[in-house]
Amino acid sequence: MPAQIGVTGLAVMGANLARNFARNGYTVALHNRSIGKTDALLEAHGDEGQFIRTETLEELVANLETPRRVMIMVKAGAPVDSVIDQLVPLLDEDDIIIDGGNSHYTDTRRREAALAEKGLHFVGVGVSGGEEGALLGPSIMPGGSKQSYQALGPMLEKIAAKADDGTPCCAWISTDGAGHFVKMVHNGIEYADMQVIGEAYDLMRHAAGLEPDEQAKIFADWNQGELSSFLIEITAEVLGHTDAATGKPLVDVIQDSAGQKGTGRWTVQSGLDMGSPVSAIAESVFARSLSSQRDIRAVGQEVLQGHTAEVNLPENFVEDVRQALFASKLVSYAQGLDMLTSAAGEYGWELKLDEIAGLWREGCIIRAALLKDIMAAYKGETSPANLLFTPAFTEAIGKAVPAWRRVVAVAAQLGIPAPVFSSSLAYYDGLRRDRLPAALTQGLRDFFGAHTYRRTDKEGTFHTLWSGDR
Ligand code: NAP
Repeated sequence: MPAQIGVTGLAVMGANLARNFARNGYTVALHNRSIGKTDALLEAHGDEGQFIRTETLEELVANLETPRRVMIMVKAGAPVDSVIDQLVPLLDEDDIIIDGGNSHYTDTRRREAALAEKGLHFVGVGVSGGEEGALLGPSIMPGGSKQSYQALGPMLEKIAAKADDGTPCCAWISTDGAGHFVKMVHNGIEYADMQVIGEAYDLMRHAAGLEPDEQAKIFADWNQGELSSFLIEITAEVLGHTDAATGKPLVDVIQDSAGQKGTGRWTVQSGLDMGSPVSAIAESVFARSLSSQRDIRAVGQEVLQGHTAEVNLPENFVEDVRQALFASKLVSYAQGLDMLTSAAGEYGWELKLDEIAGLWREGCIIRAALLKDIMAAYKGETSPANLLFTPAFTEAIGKAVPAWRRVVAVAAQLGIPAPVFSSSLAYYDGLRRDRLPAALTQGLRDFFGAHTYRRTDKEGTFHTLWSGDR
């Protein structure tokens, strides 16, 4: 019997996705550049479903039903192009090449256009949920042509995570690179989500003196309320973990320099290109960069002054921190979704933000109770210009504002960096101010560069002769 799908690239993600397809009743043809991974997978899990072992891409393609579906799960970048180049001569019109890796959406757009000219479908699919999600049900964000989704979508929906109402966390996003774009922004939001959790922890530890095990209980408690999410849940686990070797909280033994693989940086770069103010995501990426400058920080610890003033903590500081965390998290979602709106305009994608929020409800790292409300906010004919302008979120963030301001003030007074708490508050205040100092910026630009400005009282562009003798 021919296979319904072929998977090439059987490292962690490819192997688990292949197993997920097989466990869901599909026959899966397996291929990996080096045969060892294929055999290891078959040896450990060959009894989980129908697999076909193949040694070459020719053999892989020969074992597929038509239209053929070949999923590439190799290292992102040049390896993807190399595998595509090898596959193209083996395929026929209307066959589908699927890239389920973390490719940059501009690469996906390029590949999709090139393969469309050859009559092939190329589908860039964002897959979130890491190793476990790939096996048990990830959140899946496919782009590519709508036609390709008819042949591919039902299979992806079957292996995807299911929301609590049974809806698969998989839906066609829009054309060409839209799926990878949405996955990239998801990862950007994930960076901000983790950073605000880190800031809450840091403030409770160093302003309020709460030890990790005490905080584990606080985070577990927060996970029962409006902050309920996978990341808050695992924060409780991580903070409650004791290092077997030293007996210390493990978090105190882990080196404080955060790694990054690039999707957060890509989100910020795209945000800059599109003029989309994703400041929470940018601050999160920069916070990781600063954390990694360990040598420079070592000098800073010696020479830079900290705070000197006594600071009285607000009476209910832990609750204040919870609210600051919630409000900052709302801002990072608002910014990420705003960026999706900008991209839809830029690339002609019809992005349904309610559906996208729905895909993130299960299977992915940013899964959170909040996403149900975000879905509701974007339901209906007209989308709000900003998530924070929908009545439910205007009210929710408004309630948190007093606590949020107190927490940012405490952080500043004590010299505890809280870049996303504070920049998100600045974004919020920037949104609500009737006049921004950008008027002065325009004046300065006109002064030194004759860049002109617009006036509040009449149409047109204006330039001032700032000084008669210049
Ligand atoms: P990976 O470590 O990114 O890549 C290893 C795989 O790529 C191996 O199968 C390797 O084959 C193959 N490969 C490398 N260069 C190749 C080339 N020039 N030609 C053919 N095959 C080549 O694997 P991964 O961690 O499973 O990730 C796969 C993709 O999913 C990546 O894009 C990754 O960013 C994305 N992703 C990963 C995660 C995660 O949690 N790991 C989560 C979401 C998305 P050999 O065995 O022969 O070396």
